[in-house]
Formats: sequence, C-alpha cells, structure tokens
Amino acid sequence: MFSVKFWGVRGSIACPSPEHVRYGGNTSCIEVTVGEHRFILDAGTGIRNLSKEFLRNDVRTVHLLLSHTHWDHVIGFPFFRPAYDPKRRMHILAGHVRHHGGIQKVLSKHMISPFFPVPLDAMKAIREFEDFEAGDTFRLCPGVNVRTTPLNHPDGATGYRIEHGGKAACYVTDTEHVPGQPDQNILGLIEGADLVVYDSSYTEEEFPSHVGWGHSTWNEGMRLCRMAGVKKLAIFHHEPDHEDAFMENLEAEATAAWEGNVVAREGMEIRLD
Ligand SMILES: [Zn+2]
Ligand SMILES: [Zn+2]
Repeated sequence: MFSVKFWGVRGSIACPSPEHVRYGGNTSCIEVTVGEHRFILDAGTGIRNLSKEFLRNDVRTVHLLLSHTHWDHVIGFPFFRPAYDPKRRMHILAGHVRHHGGIQKVLSKHMISPFFPVPLDAMKAIREFEDFEAGDTFRLCPGVNVRTTPLNHPDGATGYRIEHGGKAACYVTDTEHVPGQPDQNILGLIEGADLVVYDSSYTEEEFPSHVGWGHSTWNEGMRLCRMAGVKKLAIFHHEPDHEDAFMENLEAEATAAWEGNVVAREGMEIRLD
C-alpha cells in the first residue's frame, strides 16, 4: 500500500464558499500511507478533517513533515486532536528553521497567549521534534526513505521525496521558478518519481506580476516532470481566487496538454502501488 490523499489543496488562505466546492477550500494538508505507516505533509486547515479520520480509525503513530511554517501550512496544527492524546505518538520534522531555534520553538510561538489559549506542550502525543537541513536524506521508518531539497521561497521551504518499495512520491511546494532556468535541485529530487505534487498557484499569465512571491505554475511543474521522467503531476496549492469554474477550465487545459497532469481536489486519493 502506497497512497497519497489530499485533505487541503489551497494556498495562502482557506476559502470555503459555494464557489470552492468542487476543488475544496482548505489549505495544504496531504496524507501519505505507506504500508502501516502514516505521514502528514503540512498542517493547513485540511488537517482538521484528517484528524477526525485518524480518531475514527484509531491511528496511533504519525510523522508530520512540514514544508515550511507560513500560516497556510500550519494554521490547522493546533486543531489536530490526536496530538493531545498521550496514548498516541507524533513526530514532527522540518528542514528550514534551525537558524530560528528549531521547529519546537517556532510552533510554540504560534500557540501562545493571546493568539491561542492552549500551549504546544499540552500536545502530549508529540515525542520528538526533529530539525534537519533541507538537502538531507534520512530513513523515516523501516522501508521508507526520504530525500529533501531546499526550495526557492521567502523564509525557505523544503521539498520531499518519499520512497518505498521502488515507488516515489514527491511534495514540492512552496517554490518559485525562474523562467527558462529549470530548478536543478527540484529536477534531482523528482527524477523518475511516480507522482509529484507541485506548487501551481499561478497561471502563466498571472506569474509575471507575482515574481518574488515564491510560487510557480502548473506549466513549469509539467516541464520539470517531463524533463525528469515523472509519471504524474498533481497540480496543487491553488490560488484562492481560482474558483470552481476557473479551475475546471484550468483542468481541461492541463489534461489536454499532458496525460500525466491531474488537478488535486480535496478528498482525492492517488494510489502508487
Ligand atoms: Zn503556501
Ligand atoms: Zn509559503
């Protein structure tokens, strides 16, 4: 079993509305299941619904891998209820905040009066906070290897590649490309992967007026995936202003451009095995 499930697919800010029903309004959160192991990529608002499923299925152990700590990727974290249960185990990893004192310190500043009434140390399931340097490679659990790379984003971000049983899924958000200069770090990370989830915040038309904001386009994701021999690209981190009708046009254009393109929707699951 190797699967990737989308619980939140938006960037920037959650946008629940009648115009965001078909693709979803929650911010970045992905569940990766590898055998009996569960991993969460980012803790945007989508993590709240994931948390309910974890409680329903009594999932006891989880690793949370953070791309970075901008609000849209951590705003749901205090609402991940399994983290408050001392009978469960949670490990949190990040690759971009060593120079800020580490991920424990950074998250604790998010859960402090007068922003939030419950402190981080009430989350009794958390057994370990681990800071690595984006670019490191490590073994997460038996049979699960992780490679990482730094991304081009304000305050830094980490791209992940999770490998198991000869298959690989990559999570590459948030990142900005330089037109005409494919990101060599990303190409190295995604080489031959079965699935790449990629920051596709903007269209090619919108991109020039957002240079420096730290995001990319599905067209660039597709170019990178084709260069690196990737099988499937999940278009992700949708801009909140891209409502359902807009996204349907985008999906038609992207799927016509390459058969490997899929547009991530809340609730979508992609099996790799
Ligand atoms: Zn983001
Ligand atoms: Zn960001």
